[in-house]
Amino acid sequence: ARSVVDGYLTAHPEGGWLDPLSTADLLEAYGLPLTTSVWARDEHMASVSAAGLRRLGYEGRVVLKAYWPGQVHKSAAGAVRTGLGDDAEVRSAYREFTRRFGDRLAGAVVQPMAAPGVELLAGVVQDQVFGPLIVLGLGGTAADVLADRVARLAPLSERDLSTMVTELRSAPLLLGDGGAPPVDLAAVRSVLARLSRLADDFPELAQADLNPVIARPDGALCVDARVRLE
Ligand code: ADP
Ligand code: MG
Repeated sequence: ARSVVDGYLTAHPEGGWLDPLSTADLLEAYGLPLTTSVWARDEHMASVSAAGLRRLGYEGRVVLKAYWPGQVHKSAAGAVRTGLGDDAEVRSAYREFTRRFGDRLAGAVVQPMAAPGVELLAGVVQDQVFGPLIVLGLGGTAADVLADRVARLAPLSERDLSTMVTELRSAPLLLGDGGAPPVDLAAVRSVLARLSRLADDFPELAQADLNPVIARPDGALCVDARVRLE
């Protein structure tokens, strides 16, 4: 983790967003549960990677995400294609990226399709006065509209870890009211605890957004993460 952070800040003293692979290296060093991501520079690489990952994907499907440096909202820009079920779909999605993004396109990330669950966001933001805050909220594409979030100063206590979940307005979705089975709350709390440790160890971490973390009865899995260093 230290070498990812120092390496980036040496090359970019003004700070900025890590690329997807460095992001994964940093977060995985803290045990955060990220889905498998394979980098593909062209249509052929995307096709080969997808063939391997389809076996891991929900219903045998994969996801393709276009990447270019400095991107912000991928799905709003048409850069996320989910549920690709065969080679023709993967290839045509990659070609569509090439058409749409042209020379900007640096490549694509291929992931297995994750099983559905409750989409949460978990992250770190810096408060100018108090330092790192750990945030938990309802995630996915409705996150900004619903703005259901709670935040606590790092480092999180055991009490913070349990009350953050229950204070969400969406808590019933997680606790399993209304017939659905409860999600794995220990897995959600573990994500928060690991983010807290990361934020505590690295004051250079200006922002981390894990959105969504897909929470299910059998665990929690992050399929989209970005990290900004300063
Ligand atoms: P962005 O947040 O930049 O728009 P995401 O990578 O979060 O892009 O993708 C947008 C949405 O697509 C996610 O909120 C999620 O619903 C879905 N999605 C993305 N990756 C996967 C995946 N590997 N498995 C299942 N669904 C995914
Ligand atoms: Mg996202």
